[in-house]
Amino acid sequence: MPDSMDEKLIIIGTGPAGYTAAIYAARADLAPLVFVGSQLGGQLTTTTEIENFPGFPSGIDGPELMFNMSQQAEKFGARYAYEEVISVTREECSGLFVVTTNQAAYKAQAVIVATGATARYLGLPGEKELIGHGLTACATCDGAFYRDVPVCVVGGGDSACEEAHFLTRFASKVYLLHRRDTLRASKAMQQRVLNHEKIEVLWNTTIAAYERDDKGELCGVMLSDTQTGEQRPLDVKCVFMAIGHQPNSKIVSSLVDTDPAGFIIRTGGGTSTKTPGLFAAGDVADPTYRQAISAAGMGCWAALEAERYLLTL
Ligand code: NAP
Repeated sequence: MPDSMDEKLIIIGTGPAGYTAAIYAARADLAPLVFVGSQLGGQLTTTTEIENFPGFPSGIDGPELMFNMSQQAEKFGARYAYEEVISVTREECSGLFVVTTNQAAYKAQAVIVATGATARYLGLPGEKELIGHGLTACATCDGAFYRDVPVCVVGGGDSACEEAHFLTRFASKVYLLHRRDTLRASKAMQQRVLNHEKIEVLWNTTIAAYERDDKGELCGVMLSDTQTGEQRPLDVKCVFMAIGHQPNSKIVSSLVDTDPAGFIIRTGGGTSTKTPGLFAAGDVADPTYRQAISAAGMGCWAALEAERYLLTL
Protein backbone atom coordinates (compact mmCIF):
# COMPACT_ATOMS: atom_id res chain seq x y z
CA MET A 1 0.00 0.00 0.00
CA PRO A 2 1.30 3.49 -0.79
CA ASP A 3 2.43 5.53 2.21
CA SER A 4 1.38 9.17 2.64
CA MET A 5 5.09 10.04 2.63
CA ASP A 6 5.53 8.62 -0.86
CA GLU A 7 5.41 10.89 -3.85
CA LYS A 8 2.39 10.42 -6.06
CA LEU A 9 4.23 11.32 -9.22
CA ILE A 10 7.87 11.90 -10.04
CA ILE A 11 8.79 13.48 -13.36
CA ILE A 12 12.37 13.12 -14.55
CA GLY A 13 13.55 15.75 -17.01
CA THR A 14 12.90 19.40 -17.74
CA GLY A 15 12.60 19.73 -21.48
CA PRO A 16 9.24 20.51 -23.11
CA ALA A 17 7.96 16.99 -22.30
CA GLY A 18 8.88 17.15 -18.60
CA TYR A 19 7.58 20.69 -18.08
CA THR A 20 4.32 20.04 -19.92
CA ALA A 21 3.78 16.86 -17.89
CA ALA A 22 4.49 18.95 -14.77
CA ILE A 23 1.96 21.64 -15.77
CA TYR A 24 -0.79 19.08 -16.38
CA ALA A 25 0.00 16.99 -13.31
CA ALA A 26 0.26 20.04 -11.07
CA ARG A 27 -3.08 21.36 -12.31
CA ALA A 28 -4.53 17.92 -11.45
CA ASP A 29 -3.34 18.47 -7.84
CA LEU A 30 -0.68 15.76 -8.01
CA ALA A 31 2.07 18.15 -6.80
CA PRO A 32 4.66 16.35 -8.95
CA LEU A 33 8.29 16.26 -7.87
CA VAL A 34 10.35 17.16 -10.94
CA PHE A 35 14.01 16.17 -11.20
CA VAL A 36 15.98 18.74 -13.09
CA GLY A 37 19.19 16.88 -13.90
CA SER A 38 22.34 18.29 -15.41
CA GLN A 39 20.79 20.27 -18.26
CA LEU A 40 18.06 22.48 -16.84
CA GLY A 41 15.54 23.09 -19.61
CA GLY A 42 16.92 20.34 -21.83
CA GLN A 43 18.15 20.65 -25.40
CA LEU A 44 16.10 23.75 -26.16
CA THR A 45 18.32 25.76 -23.86
CA THR A 46 21.10 25.14 -26.36
CA THR A 47 19.12 26.27 -29.36
CA THR A 48 18.61 29.67 -30.89
CA GLU A 49 15.31 31.17 -31.83
CA ILE A 50 12.46 28.69 -32.17
CA GLU A 51 10.24 29.66 -35.06
CA ASN A 52 7.91 26.68 -35.17
CA PHE A 53 6.50 26.50 -31.65
CA PRO A 54 2.85 27.55 -32.06
CA GLY A 55 1.81 30.76 -30.34
CA PHE A 56 4.96 32.78 -31.03
CA PRO A 57 4.60 34.39 -34.47
CA SER A 58 7.89 36.27 -34.03
CA GLY A 59 9.72 33.22 -32.63
CA ILE A 60 10.99 32.74 -29.09
CA ASP A 61 14.40 31.91 -27.60
CA GLY A 62 14.74 28.30 -26.41
CA PRO A 63 15.86 29.24 -22.87
CA GLU A 64 13.00 31.75 -22.55
CA LEU A 65 10.42 29.18 -23.64
CA MET A 66 11.76 26.69 -21.11
CA PHE A 67 11.86 29.27 -18.33
CA ASN A 68 8.22 30.17 -19.03
CA MET A 69 7.20 26.51 -18.91
CA SER A 70 9.06 26.03 -15.65
CA GLN A 71 7.30 29.02 -14.04
CA GLN A 72 3.94 27.84 -15.32
CA ALA A 73 4.36 24.41 -13.71
CA GLU A 74 5.62 25.91 -10.45
CA LYS A 75 2.63 28.25 -10.29
CA PHE A 76 0.34 25.21 -10.07
CA GLY A 77 2.38 23.38 -7.44
CA ALA A 78 5.17 21.47 -9.22
CA ARG A 79 8.28 21.14 -7.05
CA TYR A 80 11.81 20.98 -8.42
CA ALA A 81 14.69 18.86 -7.14
CA TYR A 82 18.15 19.69 -8.45
CA GLU A 83 19.56 16.19 -8.26
CA GLU A 84 20.87 13.81 -10.88
CA VAL A 85 18.77 10.65 -11.18
CA ILE A 86 20.97 7.57 -11.36
CA SER A 87 18.39 4.81 -11.59
CA VAL A 88 14.72 3.96 -11.37
CA THR A 89 13.66 0.56 -10.06
CA ARG A 90 10.45 -0.91 -8.77
CA GLU A 91 9.86 -2.61 -5.41
CA GLU A 92 8.29 -6.03 -5.96
CA CYS A 93 6.24 -6.01 -2.75
CA SER A 94 4.81 -2.46 -2.76
CA GLY A 95 4.83 -1.80 -6.50
CA LEU A 96 6.39 1.58 -5.71
CA PHE A 97 9.09 3.08 -7.89
CA VAL A 98 12.41 3.91 -6.26
CA VAL A 99 14.11 6.88 -7.86
CA THR A 100 17.74 6.98 -6.74
CA THR A 101 19.65 10.22 -7.21
CA ASN A 102 23.22 11.26 -6.45
CA GLN A 103 21.91 12.44 -3.06
CA ALA A 104 18.97 10.30 -1.90
CA ALA A 105 16.29 7.76 -2.82
CA TYR A 106 12.65 8.71 -3.35
CA LYS A 107 9.57 6.50 -3.62
CA ALA A 108 6.73 7.25 -5.99
CA GLN A 109 3.52 5.64 -7.17
CA ALA A 110 4.09 6.67 -10.78
CA VAL A 111 7.00 8.03 -12.80
CA ILE A 112 7.22 9.95 -16.05
CA VAL A 113 10.59 9.68 -17.79
CA ALA A 114 11.26 12.71 -19.97
CA THR A 115 15.03 12.64 -20.00
CA GLY A 116 15.47 13.59 -23.64
CA ALA A 117 18.60 12.83 -25.59
CA THR A 118 22.27 13.84 -25.44
CA ALA A 119 24.49 15.10 -28.24
CA ARG A 120 26.56 12.50 -30.09
CA TYR A 121 30.23 12.91 -30.94
CA LEU A 122 32.32 11.09 -33.54
CA GLY A 123 34.20 8.88 -31.09
CA LEU A 124 37.64 9.93 -32.29
CA PRO A 125 40.72 9.68 -30.04
CA GLY A 126 41.18 12.62 -27.66
CA GLU A 127 37.62 13.83 -28.19
CA LYS A 128 36.59 13.95 -24.53
CA GLU A 129 39.55 16.14 -23.56
CA LEU A 130 38.76 18.58 -26.37
CA ILE A 131 35.17 19.20 -25.33
CA GLY A 132 35.11 22.79 -24.14
CA HIS A 133 38.49 23.43 -25.78
CA GLY A 134 37.41 23.92 -29.36
CA LEU A 135 34.94 21.05 -29.58
CA THR A 136 31.30 21.52 -28.62
CA ALA A 137 27.77 20.46 -29.51
CA CYS A 138 26.21 23.81 -28.67
CA ALA A 139 26.52 26.76 -31.03
CA THR A 140 24.28 28.91 -28.85
CA CYS A 141 26.48 28.33 -25.83
CA ASP A 142 29.88 28.66 -27.48
CA GLY A 143 29.45 30.40 -30.85
CA ALA A 144 30.22 33.88 -29.52
CA PHE A 145 33.67 32.74 -28.33
CA TYR A 146 34.76 32.22 -31.94
CA ARG A 147 34.56 35.67 -33.49
CA ASP A 148 36.31 36.39 -36.78
CA VAL A 149 37.87 32.92 -37.01
CA PRO A 150 36.95 29.95 -39.21
CA VAL A 151 34.84 27.18 -37.62
CA CYS A 152 33.12 24.05 -38.87
CA VAL A 153 29.89 22.20 -38.17
CA VAL A 154 29.60 18.43 -38.62
CA GLY A 155 26.29 16.97 -39.82
CA GLY A 156 23.67 17.39 -42.52
CA GLY A 157 20.40 17.59 -40.58
CA ASP A 158 18.32 20.52 -39.36
CA SER A 159 20.51 21.00 -36.30
CA ALA A 160 23.70 21.23 -38.35
CA CYS A 161 22.15 23.72 -40.77
CA GLU A 162 20.63 25.79 -37.97
CA GLU A 163 23.93 25.89 -36.11
CA ALA A 164 25.91 26.76 -39.25
CA HIS A 165 23.54 29.62 -40.00
CA PHE A 166 23.68 30.89 -36.41
CA LEU A 167 27.49 30.78 -36.40
CA THR A 168 27.70 33.15 -39.37
CA ARG A 169 26.95 35.91 -36.84
CA PHE A 170 30.39 35.44 -35.31
CA ALA A 171 32.77 33.34 -37.39
CA SER A 172 34.72 34.61 -40.40
CA LYS A 173 33.82 31.41 -42.27
CA VAL A 174 31.65 28.40 -41.51
CA TYR A 175 32.38 25.03 -43.12
CA LEU A 176 29.57 22.52 -43.03
CA LEU A 177 31.04 19.01 -43.20
CA HIS A 178 28.59 16.40 -44.38
CA ARG A 179 29.39 12.73 -44.94
CA ARG A 180 27.08 12.46 -47.99
CA ASP A 181 26.25 14.61 -51.01
CA THR A 182 22.71 15.62 -50.00
CA LEU A 183 21.50 17.28 -46.83
CA ARG A 184 18.93 15.63 -44.61
CA ALA A 185 17.66 19.02 -43.35
CA SER A 186 14.30 20.50 -44.37
CA LYS A 187 14.28 22.40 -47.67
CA ALA A 188 13.87 25.78 -45.97
CA MET A 189 16.87 25.14 -43.74
CA GLN A 190 18.94 23.87 -46.68
CA GLN A 191 18.27 27.03 -48.66
CA ARG A 192 19.42 29.22 -45.80
CA VAL A 193 22.71 27.38 -45.67
CA LEU A 194 23.32 26.94 -49.39
CA ASN A 195 22.59 30.61 -50.09
CA HIS A 196 24.74 32.04 -47.33
CA GLU A 197 27.97 33.65 -48.48
CA LYS A 198 29.85 32.75 -45.28
CA ILE A 199 28.94 29.05 -45.38
CA GLU A 200 30.77 26.51 -47.51
CA VAL A 201 29.45 22.96 -47.61
CA LEU A 202 32.14 20.31 -47.89
CA TRP A 203 30.31 17.29 -49.31
CA ASN A 204 31.32 13.66 -48.69
CA THR A 205 33.56 14.86 -45.90
CA THR A 206 34.19 13.82 -42.35
CA ILE A 207 36.83 14.42 -39.68
CA ALA A 208 39.64 11.87 -39.42
CA ALA A 209 41.49 13.57 -36.56
CA TYR A 210 41.61 16.70 -34.42
CA GLU A 211 44.72 18.90 -34.23
CA ARG A 212 45.65 20.65 -30.98
CA ASP A 213 48.04 23.42 -30.04
CA ASP A 214 50.47 23.40 -27.08
CA LYS A 215 47.74 24.57 -24.72
CA GLY A 216 45.48 21.67 -25.66
CA GLU A 217 43.10 23.87 -27.65
CA LEU A 218 41.80 22.68 -31.01
CA CYS A 219 43.63 24.42 -33.84
CA GLY A 220 42.49 22.46 -36.90
CA VAL A 221 41.16 19.17 -38.19
CA MET A 222 42.26 16.53 -40.67
CA LEU A 223 39.45 15.98 -43.15
CA SER A 224 38.74 12.72 -44.88
CA ASP A 225 36.85 12.27 -48.14
CA THR A 226 34.24 9.59 -47.40
CA GLN A 227 34.43 8.30 -50.99
CA THR A 228 38.14 8.35 -51.81
CA GLY A 229 39.64 8.31 -48.30
CA GLU A 230 41.83 11.23 -49.33
CA GLN A 231 42.89 13.43 -46.40
CA ARG A 232 43.62 17.14 -46.13
CA PRO A 233 43.97 19.62 -43.26
CA LEU A 234 41.44 22.35 -42.54
CA ASP A 235 42.21 25.39 -40.44
CA VAL A 236 39.35 25.85 -37.95
CA LYS A 237 39.32 27.06 -34.36
CA CYS A 238 36.20 25.22 -33.27
CA VAL A 239 34.22 22.15 -34.31
CA PHE A 240 30.48 22.21 -33.62
CA MET A 241 29.12 18.67 -33.58
CA ALA A 242 25.55 18.24 -34.84
CA ILE A 243 25.25 14.56 -35.71
CA GLY A 244 22.19 13.69 -33.70
CA HIS A 245 21.48 12.62 -30.16
CA GLN A 246 21.56 9.53 -27.97
CA PRO A 247 18.32 8.92 -26.01
CA ASN A 248 18.86 9.05 -22.24
CA SER A 249 17.06 5.83 -21.39
CA LYS A 250 19.74 4.11 -19.31
CA ILE A 251 18.33 5.05 -15.89
CA VAL A 252 15.16 3.04 -16.59
CA SER A 253 16.81 0.24 -18.53
CA SER A 254 15.61 -2.48 -16.13
CA LEU A 255 11.98 -1.39 -16.53
CA VAL A 256 11.57 -0.68 -20.24
CA ASP A 257 12.29 -2.14 -23.64
CA THR A 258 14.30 0.00 -26.03
CA ASP A 259 14.87 -0.11 -29.77
CA PRO A 260 18.41 -0.70 -31.10
CA ALA A 261 19.13 3.06 -30.94
CA GLY A 262 18.08 3.20 -27.27
CA PHE A 263 14.67 4.89 -27.65
CA ILE A 264 12.12 3.65 -25.09
CA ILE A 265 9.42 1.53 -26.70
CA ARG A 266 5.96 2.73 -25.76
CA THR A 267 2.99 0.41 -25.60
CA GLY A 268 -0.70 0.99 -26.31
CA GLY A 269 -0.27 4.01 -28.59
CA GLY A 270 0.31 6.47 -25.74
CA THR A 271 3.19 6.94 -23.31
CA SER A 272 2.85 3.69 -21.33
CA THR A 273 5.85 1.39 -21.15
CA LYS A 274 5.99 -2.30 -20.37
CA THR A 275 6.02 -1.41 -16.64
CA PRO A 276 2.61 -0.21 -15.37
CA GLY A 277 2.91 3.24 -13.82
CA LEU A 278 6.05 4.15 -15.76
CA PHE A 279 5.44 6.54 -18.64
CA ALA A 280 7.89 7.86 -21.24
CA ALA A 281 7.54 11.17 -23.07
CA GLY A 282 9.57 13.33 -25.43
CA ASP A 283 12.80 12.59 -27.29
CA VAL A 284 13.76 9.65 -25.05
CA ALA A 285 10.77 7.76 -26.48
CA ASP A 286 10.36 9.36 -29.90
CA PRO A 287 12.63 8.13 -32.69
CA THR A 288 10.51 9.82 -35.34
CA TYR A 289 9.47 13.43 -34.74
CA ARG A 290 11.69 14.79 -31.98
CA GLN A 291 10.24 18.29 -32.05
CA ALA A 292 9.67 20.62 -29.11
CA ILE A 293 5.95 20.69 -29.78
CA SER A 294 5.62 16.92 -30.16
CA ALA A 295 7.59 16.43 -26.95
CA ALA A 296 5.26 18.87 -25.18
CA GLY A 297 2.28 16.94 -26.55
CA MET A 298 3.70 13.68 -25.25
CA GLY A 299 4.26 15.29 -21.85
CA CYS A 300 0.57 16.14 -21.78
CA TRP A 301 -0.40 12.54 -22.65
CA ALA A 302 1.94 11.17 -20.00
CA ALA A 303 0.46 13.36 -17.26
CA LEU A 304 -3.11 12.42 -18.21
CA GLU A 305 -2.20 8.74 -18.37
CA ALA A 306 -0.36 8.90 -15.03
CA GLU A 307 -3.37 10.61 -13.46
CA ARG A 308 -5.65 7.83 -14.71
CA TYR A 309 -3.22 5.17 -13.52
CA LEU A 310 -3.07 6.69 -10.02
CA LEU A 311 -6.86 6.50 -9.76
CA THR A 312 -6.64 2.73 -10.17
CA LEU A 313 -4.36 2.24 -7.13
P1 NAP B 1 19.43 14.18 -37.61
O1 NAP B 1 18.28 14.69 -38.39
O2 NAP B 1 19.43 12.77 -37.14
O3 NAP B 1 20.73 14.46 -38.48
C1 NAP B 1 22.00 14.01 -38.05
C2 NAP B 1 22.99 14.31 -39.16
O4 NAP B 1 24.27 13.90 -38.71
C3 NAP B 1 22.69 13.58 -40.45
O5 NAP B 1 22.89 14.42 -41.54
C4 NAP B 1 23.68 12.43 -40.41
O6 NAP B 1 24.14 12.06 -41.68
C5 NAP B 1 24.84 13.02 -39.66
N1 NAP B 1 25.60 12.00 -38.93
C6 NAP B 1 25.13 11.08 -38.06
N2 NAP B 1 26.13 10.32 -37.58
C7 NAP B 1 27.26 10.77 -38.17
C8 NAP B 1 28.62 10.41 -38.08
N3 NAP B 1 29.03 9.42 -37.29
N4 NAP B 1 29.51 11.08 -38.83
C9 NAP B 1 29.12 12.09 -39.63
N5 NAP B 1 27.84 12.51 -39.76
C10 NAP B 1 26.93 11.85 -39.03
O7 NAP B 1 19.66 15.04 -36.27
P2 NAP B 1 19.34 16.58 -36.00
O8 NAP B 1 19.78 17.45 -37.08
O9 NAP B 1 19.88 16.81 -34.62
O10 NAP B 1 17.75 16.63 -35.93
C11 NAP B 1 17.01 15.78 -35.05
C12 NAP B 1 15.52 16.07 -35.19
O11 NAP B 1 15.23 17.38 -34.70
C13 NAP B 1 15.06 16.04 -36.64
O12 NAP B 1 13.76 15.51 -36.67
C14 NAP B 1 15.04 17.50 -37.04
O13 NAP B 1 14.12 17.79 -38.08
C15 NAP B 1 14.66 18.16 -35.73
N6 NAP B 1 15.17 19.56 -35.66
C16 NAP B 1 14.34 20.57 -36.04
C17 NAP B 1 14.76 21.88 -35.99
C18 NAP B 1 13.82 22.97 -36.38
O14 NAP B 1 12.78 22.66 -36.96
N7 NAP B 1 14.10 24.23 -36.08
C19 NAP B 1 16.07 22.20 -35.58
C20 NAP B 1 16.90 21.14 -35.23
C21 NAP B 1 16.45 19.83 -35.28
P3 NAP B 1 23.16 11.32 -42.74
O15 NAP B 1 22.28 12.40 -43.27
O16 NAP B 1 24.12 10.75 -43.72
O17 NAP B 1 22.43 10.27 -41.95
